[in-house]
Amino acid sequence: MSALRLLRAVRIPAHSTRLPRPAARPCHVPRRPVSGGPRYVRFGAESPGGEGPGKGSAWDVRRWDTAHKVWAGVGAFVVGYYVSHLEQVPETGRWRFMDISPKYEAMLAEASHQQLLQEFKGKVLPPNHPLTRHVRRVTTRILEASNLGTLDAPDVQRPKGTDEFWSFTGNPDELPPEVGGAKKWDLFVVNDDRVVNAMAAYGNIVVFTGILPVAKDENGLAAILGHEIGHAVARHASERYSQMKVLIALALLLDWVGIPFSSYAVALLYDLPNSRTQEFEADKIGMRLSSRACFDPEAVPEMFLRLGKLEQSMGGRHIDFLTTHPASEKRSKALREMLPEAYAIQAASPACASTRDHMAAFRDTWLGGLNPDRMSEVQWGI
Ligand SMILES: [Zn+2]
Repeated sequence: MSALRLLRAVRIPAHSTRLPRPAARPCHVPRRPVSGGPRYVRFGAESPGGEGPGKGSAWDVRRWDTAHKVWAGVGAFVVGYYVSHLEQVPETGRWRFMDISPKYEAMLAEASHQQLLQEFKGKVLPPNHPLTRHVRRVTTRILEASNLGTLDAPDVQRPKGTDEFWSFTGNPDELPPEVGGAKKWDLFVVNDDRVVNAMAAYGNIVVFTGILPVAKDENGLAAILGHEIGHAVARHASERYSQMKVLIALALLLDWVGIPFSSYAVALLYDLPNSRTQEFEADKIGMRLSSRACFDPEAVPEMFLRLGKLEQSMGGRHIDFLTTHPASEKRSKALREMLPEAYAIQAASPACASTRDHMAAFRDTWLGGLNPDRMSEVQWGI
């Protein structure tokens, strides 16, 4: 749901003079005697000051009882809070509600890091594992090309209680030039071939080995990582937390006035339109990130088509990565329309020409008879 639609859902209509209250206390709105003038409302007989139709405006605060004044104050605060926390996503210009601060995100980063360590205990591939190095190499290229920060050194635990923000809000001038952006990221390559998924939020990037065959090669993996890092860069997880707060407030308000707020409505308002907007946005940002890191832009729509085909071949059993995602064909088409922009990004980057030459030399010299496109299909022992 867009921020403006959500705003419309919660704001008090400009011409409404009726404040929310239980249905057991009805009020009626007589017709205006003169067109163009203000509407007049007579509150119920039990309402103090109700002297009959046309004798006072509902906007006259002196005629409100205490409950109406309290609710008007609460309503004004909620609308004011909402409007004052609207912001634009820097990468796309989309307006949204956001009330999670970078400082709170730093705490979430630490908490989610510890949670991931617990959740995947014994399943995270070691830093020197070929697959970890493969994923690490692609991730590092994406992060550094867009100055988003660096991956934490392998085997180094993030110090507890650090006040380092996961988002790049630090001062890059205070860092040595080779470090790049201020942000530190952590990578978990989880050894589970049954999970076709990857995710990134609050500085933690998780890649399950089950998605590597779909990635096929470095370009396909860059498509996946670009998309996930795109979610993190656009702070989508914090946006969803923020929206959830609004929905809870809305549900409480509707419940108070006697309108049931079903779980279906929550799904409609929160899950589908919202996540699809975020998915298309992550696709867009991800395509830019992987292109800037000189990966093949064509690999992005191709990778999503492969995911879609895999899902079909699994007889409708859903793939984790595609949950709440738009249809693969639709997003693949949208990504193809972005290809000219992606190639323009690469044409403007002198680094991309040299990377292509370097990669060709690397393959000829070091990989010998190995086909890099089939590297992810090799069964690696742990
Ligand atoms: Zn996504």
